[in-house]
Amino acid sequence: MAEEKLPTRAEDFSEWYNQLVLRADLADYAPVRGCMVVKPYGWALWENITSWLDKEFKATGHVNATFPTLIPMSFFEKEKEHVEGFSPELAVVTHGGGEKLEEPLVVRPTSETIIGYMYSKWVKSWRDLPILIVQWGSVLRWEMRTKLFLRTAEFYWHEGHTAHASEQEAKEEMYRILDIYEKFCYEEAAIPVIKGTKSDTERFAGAHTTTSIEAMMWDKRALQSGTSHYFSTNFAKAFEIQFLNKENTLQLAETTSWAISSRIIGAMIMVHGDDQGLILPPRLAPIQVVIVPIFKNDAEKAKVMEVADRVFAELKAAGIRIKMDDRDNVSSGFKFNDWEMRGVPLRLEIGPKDVEKGSVALARRDKPGREGKSFVSQTDLAVTVSGALSEIQSALLKRATEFRDANIHDPKDYEELKQVVMDGWAFSWWCESRECEAKVKEDTKATTRNIPLHQPGGEGTCIVCGKPAKRKVYFAKAY
Ligand SMILES: [Zn+2]
Repeated sequence: MAEEKLPTRAEDFSEWYNQLVLRADLADYAPVRGCMVVKPYGWALWENITSWLDKEFKATGHVNATFPTLIPMSFFEKEKEHVEGFSPELAVVTHGGGEKLEEPLVVRPTSETIIGYMYSKWVKSWRDLPILIVQWGSVLRWEMRTKLFLRTAEFYWHEGHTAHASEQEAKEEMYRILDIYEKFCYEEAAIPVIKGTKSDTERFAGAHTTTSIEAMMWDKRALQSGTSHYFSTNFAKAFEIQFLNKENTLQLAETTSWAISSRIIGAMIMVHGDDQGLILPPRLAPIQVVIVPIFKNDAEKAKVMEVADRVFAELKAAGIRIKMDDRDNVSSGFKFNDWEMRGVPLRLEIGPKDVEKGSVALARRDKPGREGKSFVSQTDLAVTVSGALSEIQSALLKRATEFRDANIHDPKDYEELKQVVMDGWAFSWWCESRECEAKVKEDTKATTRNIPLHQPGGEGTCIVCGKPAKRKVYFAKAY
């Protein structure tokens, strides 16, 4: 499989993506409409993502718990915007044990309702707050078209659900989480995301405020990569989450919810991948280094494997995630292509000449060909390899940041905006009216991505209608 070329990204980006996911061995199509099977290599990548986030959540006072997959239909009807937003995507269980259920059950598309119900039981006094719970699992939203990782009916995620005594605390929580998401994307996934607030039309159904992190893919479309919502007392009202405050009066709690899903894997593929396949950032790669021993006969093999085994043990002991590719039924060239397809950041080759010279060859995945190849000493190899992995990590972030910045435009008028969003993002003043937002969407298919938290300052005029505008927004076509 690895010997067949992928379509190039320029030829057909969508098909490049579809084939890459299968050939890099990340996931496969399930025999269930709209669903995916995440294969061991893809799941190992997801585990590296989740374990970083889990650690960060726990360090900021959160705890994990789990709630049912099935939610009574009536729960959804308690919050009007929430039910309107989610109705078209719900999968509903009508029968159980061979009988029609008195009340249909919804396969959770998100868990605000059932968690809100439980919080109303648990919260009595200000002393019970805050509650900072994270649930890890999967949810189901009916989808018409499937694209592995990006759009599947069932997908994997965590959903944080918190309840607080005051508006200020709840808002601080929303931003604290957004900061964790931003840190994750920059430092781990090497994806330069932009933090901001969603417009009213783009916000989560039932939320007071939705914030997001947005990333630019290789085709310059945007991908919402994580969201953090502040609900004010919307869900507390619907589910009667109330408590006696310090003044001994009954008060509604303020709640939040937030999530990053397995979509982030799609983002990593589309930000870093190249025409040879996947490129994984070293900090998240399930395999950081693959050793390919090279020999022509048994005598060479004995010498080469002796060094290869020693190097393997040394690097493994240094905490590097390493794999030995000692398959004897495929050529070295096949192995190179195979690991390039699977995005392993660093390949370490050892041949008979290296054994003589006390060296090994390192080939960087992010710099194909000669440019990324170097010959280094076997002495202190763990230090050299760790250094190379951090260089790759920084190079990926730098490349993605330069690419993003080169493709964000500041159009001078509406005509120019219509041009630039065909192949990039526009960063423009906007009056924040639904009419202007709808006009851009109708004329170009671009939507508002977010209003960044970091604004240039000053005031301007709306790029669409010319009225005064206080903030700038990103317009882009999105996944
Ligand atoms: Zn306007």
